[in-house]
Amino acid sequence: MPLCLHGFGGVKWYRPLKLQHVLDLKSRYPDAKLVVGNTEVGIETKFKNAQYQVLISVTHVPELNILSMNENGLDIGASVRLTLLQQFLRKVIMQHPVEETSSSKAILRQLKWFAGNQIKNVASVGGNICTASPISDLNPLWMAAGAIMRIMNCKGNVRTIPAKEFFLGYRKVDLANDEVLLSVFLPWTRSLEFVKEFKQAHRREDDIALVNAGMRVLLKQDCGSWEVSDVSIIYGGVAAVSLIASKTESFLIKKKWDNNLLQGALKILQEDIVLTEDAPGGMIEFRKSLILSFFFKFFSWVTNEMY
Ligand code: FAD
Repeated sequence: MPLCLHGFGGVKWYRPLKLQHVLDLKSRYPDAKLVVGNTEVGIETKFKNAQYQVLISVTHVPELNILSMNENGLDIGASVRLTLLQQFLRKVIMQHPVEETSSSKAILRQLKWFAGNQIKNVASVGGNICTASPISDLNPLWMAAGAIMRIMNCKGNVRTIPAKEFFLGYRKVDLANDEVLLSVFLPWTRSLEFVKEFKQAHRREDDIALVNAGMRVLLKQDCGSWEVSDVSIIYGGVAAVSLIASKTESFLIKKKWDNNLLQGALKILQEDIVLTEDAPGGMIEFRKSLILSFFFKFFSWVTNEMY
C-alpha cells in the first residue's frame, strides 16, 4: 500500500510504490530526502542535527529493486539491500564462467566485512553510493570495476555516468535535486582481467575501514610475458573522497607484469597518495604502509591467479 504519514513539526513521510510517484514527489519537493535502510539518514538526524521535512521511502519501488543479468553484466537497483545483493552475487558466480565474475567475487568478499547482518538486511546499494562516504567499502570497487550509474530525472530522462566520475567530493555526488539513482551496471570481467578488494579496520568484523581499496588490471600476452593494457587503482579512507591513484595508473599502462613494475609502482604510489601528518583519522605511518601493502598484495594475488 502507498503510505503518506504526517509527523511532528509538519514532517511528511511517503512510501510510494511506483517510480512515477517518486518522480512526482521529487518534483513537488526538490529537497525531499530519499531513504531506504535509514542507516545513514538516521545517524544524520539523530546525532548530527539534520532535519528533513519530507522523506520518501523508496524501499517498495520495483524499478529500484531490479537484480538482473544480461550478456554485458549485471543491473543492480539502487534500493537493493546488501543481503539480497550477496545472495544474487553467489548465484551469479555459480552460473557464470570464472573469468566473467572477478568483480562480482570482489564485491561479495568485501560485503563479508561490511557492517553486521542487521545493517546489511536493511542498508541499500544506492544508500551507500549516494552518501559518498570517504570510507565507503564499496565505492572504490564500483569505480575500479568500471561500473556505470543510471540516473533518472523528474521528467523521466535517463543519463549514465561512470562510477569513476560520479563522486565529486566529501559526501557529494553528481546528482541534481530533481534526480534519483536508478541502478548500477556492473560489467562482466574479461579474460585476464582481475578485480580485488581490500579493507583494513581496527577489528575484523563490523568496523569501519582505516584504509580500503578496489583494484583492477587487464593483462594481455606479449611475446611470452604479460603486459598491462588497462588498470584502475582506487583507495578509500585516504582523502575526502575515494581517490584514483592516477599517476600510478599511468605508470602501469603498457608495463610488463614483473618485479620491476612492482618496485616502480610502490615508489610512485608514495607520491600519488599522500597522507599529511595532520590528516584526519591519524595513524599516518600505519595507513601509509597499508596503501603500499594493498598494492603489494594485489600484485601477488594477480600473479598467483595467472598461474
Ligand atoms: P539511507 O540512510 O537510507 O540513505 C543514505 C543516502 O542515500 C541518503 O542521502 C539518501 O537520500 C540517499 N539515497 C538512497 N537511495 C537513493 C536513490 N535511489 N537516489 C538518490 N539518493 C538515494 N558502510 C560501509 O561502507 N562499510 C561498513 O562496514 C559500514 N558499516 C556500518 C555499520 C553501522 C552500524 C552503520 C549504522 C552504518 C554502516 N555503514 C557502513 C554505512 C551504511 O550502512 C551504508 O552506507 C548503507 O549502505 C547505507 O544504505 P541505507 O539504505 O541505509 O541508506
